[in-house]
Amino acid sequence: MNIILLGYPGSGKGTQAKVLSQKLGMFHVSTGDIFREELAKKSPLGAEVASYMTAGRLVPDKLVLEVLKARLSVETRGLLFDGFPRTVEQAEGLDNWFESRGQAIDAVIFINVPEAEVARRLGARRTCSGCGKIYNVVTSPPAKEGVCDVCAKPLLTREDDKAEVIARRIQVYKDQTEPLLSYYRSSGIFHEADGSLAPEAVAAKIAAMFAGKA
Ligand code: AMP
Repeated sequence: MNIILLGYPGSGKGTQAKVLSQKLGMFHVSTGDIFREELAKKSPLGAEVASYMTAGRLVPDKLVLEVLKARLSVETRGLLFDGFPRTVEQAEGLDNWFESRGQAIDAVIFINVPEAEVARRLGARRTCSGCGKIYNVVTSPPAKEGVCDVCAKPLLTREDDKAEVIARRIQVYKDQTEPLLSYYRSSGIFHEADGSLAPEAVAAKIAAMFAGKA
């Protein structure tokens, strides 16, 4: 199975993707995580994407597609996309890539969260510098402030979760990513989940969509 999670930054795609990929034995593909790893390694690719990321803008489609195809060429598990595609051009590139491999997208899940709630969540989001676990300092704080419950590493605020960048990312979503809803809505594989519920409740609803299908 190949699944795409769609939604605003901060809608819970990353959190749900971690749960779902484990549950269904799928490979979690987060283009944001790939780029953050390259930034941390200070690789040439990291240097190329840095300015887009810190400004809250999208990395150019051609580069995103190249990186993804290279990373996924030998992966045989089902793919669970989180944060990709983000433009219609990326969606078309993905369709062509799947077609060339005799595969298809089985489901697109739109995690629906109101814009105001997303802005609040991004401002309160902290990410573990060790294992990547995501916290919300208001609704799901760690037991000990600033420290991951799982691996005890420090929690960080992502550069692009700083107030001045959040507004830009929300606007970029509306301009460039929201058109994907109509791109996929008519495809017969489109599902919607209420992302304003607690993460566990959202996960249960999504898991119910795929019970017995993986
Ligand atoms: P994310 O972790 O998915 O919110 O992504 C963080 C940042 O990485 C985005 O704001 C973009 O700068 C870049 N990025 C991640 N995925 C993509 C994508 N599919 N297309 C373009 N840029 C991306």
